[in-house]
Amino acid sequence: MRLVRFRFGDEIATGVLEDGVIRQLRGTFFEDPVPSGSEVALEHARLLAPVIPSKVVAIARNYPEHAAEMGNVVPDVPMLFFKPATSVIGPGDPIPIPEGPSRVDPEAELAVVIGRLCRRVSEEDALKYVLGYTCANDVTVRDWQKSDGQWARAKGSDGFCPLGPWIETEVDPSDLEVRSRVNGEVLQSGRTSSLVFPPARLIAHIAASITLLPGDVVLTGTPPGVGPMRPGDRVEIEIEGIGVLANTVASAGG
Ligand code: MG
Repeated sequence: MRLVRFRFGDEIATGVLEDGVIRQLRGTFFEDPVPSGSEVALEHARLLAPVIPSKVVAIARNYPEHAAEMGNVVPDVPMLFFKPATSVIGPGDPIPIPEGPSRVDPEAELAVVIGRLCRRVSEEDALKYVLGYTCANDVTVRDWQKSDGQWARAKGSDGFCPLGPWIETEVDPSDLEVRSRVNGEVLQSGRTSSLVFPPARLIAHIAASITLLPGDVVLTGTPPGVGPMRPGDRVEIEIEGIGVLANTVASAGG
């Protein structure tokens, strides 16, 4: 099932997308939604970020080849950081690039969407708390990542977490191809089977000390091949079995 949040006229609603038609739901994804009976053609709707999370918990250095290309080693325990709710934007939204930095990269990532309150769960039970999976772009200012020490600004600025285009509820996350493309050319490529810490392990590790709320998102790290994006570029994150998240990079300061 593909779960979408969308705008139709003045209304923001949730629904299930199938064959180009959105069947609208009454209520949120998290409280046993029921069909409202209304349908909207996808071409008449504008898809939004599929969730507004209370927080995005992201993982660094979770693909060995990406850790190596950045001159880092794979950590012994998952390396966490936060991206704020204000960094989340939807499919098709422009990615705002701040004025000043010389190098801003997209990072293609499998995003896990939490479906119910998750606190102190075992790795074996962890995936029962997952609503589904979507594509994320962990936008990063490399200059600030180096200069700031903490990554709050480098990875948490406004619009630095494009998310979407929908939540796929039936995909198995254990071996999916994850890619980024800039203007149609493949930049990054990898498979989730090479994740050092797979989704179930990440959720158990995070929820041991941080409560995950319905709609919270876990970014699982990025595969090798990182490179820059520039104003005017079209950036696509594609994940096998989920879909393509496409955004354009806005002009500096725009
Ligand atoms: Mg990342």
